[in-house]
Amino acid sequence: MPSTLLIGAGIAGLTAARELTRQGHHVTVLDKGRGVGGRMATRRIDQSRLDHGAQYFTAHSPDFQTFTTELIESNVVGIWPVSDPDGQFPHYIGCEGMSAIAKHMAESLDVQTGERVVRIEQISVLTGQGWRVTSETDRTFEADNLLITIPAPQALTLLHDSDIDADAVDFTTLETIQYAPCITVMVVLKRPSQLPHPGSLRPDHGPVAWLADNFQKGISPNQPSVTIQANPAFSQAHFDNDLMGVGHALLGQLAEYIPPADILTYQVHRWRYSMAEVRHPEPYLRAQTPAPLLFGGDGFGTGNVEGAFLSGLAMARAVSAGQ
Ligand SMILES: Cc1cc2nc3c(=O)[nH]c(=O)nc-3n(C[C@H](O)[C@H](O)[C@H](O)COP(=O)(O)OP(=O)(O)OC[C@H]3O[C@@H](n4cnc5c(N)ncnc54)[C@H](O)[C@@H]3O)c2cc1C
Repeated sequence: MPSTLLIGAGIAGLTAARELTRQGHHVTVLDKGRGVGGRMATRRIDQSRLDHGAQYFTAHSPDFQTFTTELIESNVVGIWPVSDPDGQFPHYIGCEGMSAIAKHMAESLDVQTGERVVRIEQISVLTGQGWRVTSETDRTFEADNLLITIPAPQALTLLHDSDIDADAVDFTTLETIQYAPCITVMVVLKRPSQLPHPGSLRPDHGPVAWLADNFQKGISPNQPSVTIQANPAFSQAHFDNDLMGVGHALLGQLAEYIPPADILTYQVHRWRYSMAEVRHPEPYLRAQTPAPLLFGGDGFGTGNVEGAFLSGLAMARAVSAGQ
């Protein structure tokens, strides 16, 4: 039975893992996080549930539409009736938050969380035999194929810390991929926010790119909450500042929608890598190594949740086709 190791349990890695499992591979997914989903992230604060990474996704391609339909039929995904520039396509959300989609995908997979991969190496360069991966906990994992779906800058760090033939990897392509940072504020409220229905607002000026009302979205029925995402320029400028102070400043500008007297508590998260702004046009990159080593994720192809899914699918198909 062929074996494959995946680094990253975001939607790209989980998609590839599911597809390869279907093709008869023995698959292990490693992720440094406590849970699965990566940037499809949902947090609980008190009785509130907040999406604090991706807020929704659209489905343009037949493969992703089929997958989305399966998720709707399993009651994992629903529709948020938002109308914006993407408005001609339904805005899909996780009924219990975006991370629930990843949890659903991971159900029948071998996913090892809390395993930050710090080194990769070929088991035998001479025979072209597969890959050995070492995690921060000093565990090692071995497989015939290795698929890396972490953001490209993190993949570059991993490669620099590993013993890899430098000529085998197209570093220039990986270095080209760029991500925008994002500072996210998660606010728990005493009563529903003043955001108009359906609870999605993209201000046309100022530091806030997006406000999303988790209560109106339907994922936080027990306690109202709002997710605020700062725009890339503001996030970059304030990335290393005191985060609670940054959150306070952003909230101060949003009193119209979030009256200060209604705020119970808030938390702030900073994403060094949020949306992939400069991407490699192909859905993955294959290294010129004897044993398959592929790089993918949302930095490849069309980006966002759908692009990451398509990247994972393309990687899996390439591996099973022996490409
Ligand atoms: C604030 C924000 C808002 C967004 N809004 C939207 C939106 O509304 N719609 C949309 O479509 N997209 C949105 N996105 C983008 C979307 O979330 C991503 O494109 C998509 O989730 C990327 O999936 P991925 O599998 O490629 O990567 P990730 O989800 O990042 O998965 C990579 C995984 O690799 C793990 N990892 C990293 N390094 C290591 C290591 N060394 N060892 C082990 N594991 C490691 C990480 O823990 C992570 O789980 C948003 C992103 C952010 C952050």
